[in-house]
Amino acid sequence: MEQMAKPIGRNASESACQLWDNVLQVLRVRLRPEAFETWFSSTQGVGICNGNLVVRVPHPFSADWISHHYGAEIRTILSSLSAENTTVSFVATEQAPRAVAPTRPLPSIPPQGFAQGRLQLRYTFENFVVGECNRLAYAAARSVAENPGSSYNPLFVYGGVGLGKTHLLQAIGNYRLTKLNSARIYYAAAETVFIELIQAIERNTRIEFKNRYRGLDILLLDDIHYLIGKERLQEEIFHIFNYLHDSGSQVVFTSDRPPREIPTLQERLVSRLGSGLVVDLQPPDLETRIAILKRRAAAESIELPDDVCYYIASKVRTNVRALEGSLVRLLAMTSFQGKQLTLDLTKSALTDILPVEPRVDSRRVIEVVAEDFGVTPALLCGHSRTQELVLARQVAMFFMRDILSQSLKEIGRHFGGRDHTTVLHALNKVQQLRAADPAFAAKLSTLRLRITGEQNH
Ligand code: ADP
Ligand code: MG
Repeated sequence: MEQMAKPIGRNASESACQLWDNVLQVLRVRLRPEAFETWFSSTQGVGICNGNLVVRVPHPFSADWISHHYGAEIRTILSSLSAENTTVSFVATEQAPRAVAPTRPLPSIPPQGFAQGRLQLRYTFENFVVGECNRLAYAAARSVAENPGSSYNPLFVYGGVGLGKTHLLQAIGNYRLTKLNSARIYYAAAETVFIELIQAIERNTRIEFKNRYRGLDILLLDDIHYLIGKERLQEEIFHIFNYLHDSGSQVVFTSDRPPREIPTLQERLVSRLGSGLVVDLQPPDLETRIAILKRRAAAESIELPDDVCYYIASKVRTNVRALEGSLVRLLAMTSFQGKQLTLDLTKSALTDILPVEPRVDSRRVIEVVAEDFGVTPALLCGHSRTQELVLARQVAMFFMRDILSQSLKEIGRHFGGRDHTTVLHALNKVQQLRAADPAFAAKLSTLRLRITGEQNH
């Protein structure tokens, strides 16, 4: 850690801010979201002094960690930004760590307990668009926020990248704080807990580490698939969880998969994690995607024409973060060029930035579903009514609606001209099963990824 040589003037601090923001933009794309959030979300360029960019970081440990682990990457980025002669030093802020909600008093908890537990205020239930894909998870999160420690404890929310896990998790914390501003809530990504644990072991501060979790009302632990292969961390989480659970505190976990599918997770932890309610988040259907885009545009006070909205929603299907990202980049482009946002402009602008999605059609749905259920495509589309075939057929119909947005009539045609009420019944059936049976929901998620080509096995 280096000290600043002399006070830094306003211009220097503005250009430092700008330069560091540019570096952050690249890092945001290159790093995993948790890593970016943990290490870089609270950093700020504060000045340039004799060719040295000074970046403020939250504490000395992050200064060391960033230099050691990301120094080379940052130098490469700086040279790609034509600032190859600039060196970087990281300066830790000495001020007290920020609390969960900086404006709210948090009386009875040691402030360091919240050092990395910031909640983003925009992650609220009001800002979360509810559709079939996330209704159960939303309802469960809401119920936990209203009655922590009493309804579902623990609550375990799982789902793919960018589907709103962090949003829902933090919404619980934000909601609770609006009801009770002295609520003791700790939000952390599992990766952060791991780093804190290593630090505690190195510095012999295990007691402080444990105390951080004592007396909480709610622990919100994000991305716990990160525990894979980390025995020591699993051990600690197990104890923290038991302690909190026994004292009636609410615990909420998120993960990219259900507990029993987290390999190397100790059996006793698997059973603890799954002992409350396990709910999943599915990729949003077309209507939900449209609603999310509209909500986002309204929040930015932007007029989003319906055809543009529909076009983006039909192109970006599997990840809300990518969906929002496309809109934001499109708006940035149009405002930069001073052009009106039209469908034509959207089409040409988005060809470069849309994720390349494989060609998905009815044939692909039929092939993948048939293979998964161990039947032939011909049988799947035929008239046999064995139990297994009926379910496979219903699942294929469901995906034709969900992924391809086909009409009921169209779907019926792929299956020997079945009428629309049969198709509708199939869709309802699959939705009911999905809501009632987490194993079936997980199977659907995997199948969906295979159909859309995001997972090739
Ligand atoms: P995850 O943690 O599952 O990877 P996030 O919670 O970070 O995903 O969500 C990614 C982005 O998508 C965030 O900006 C979040 O606000 C937004 N988002 C996800 N789901 C919804 C939803 N149902 N309604 C509104 N915004 C959503
Ligand atoms: Mg997340």
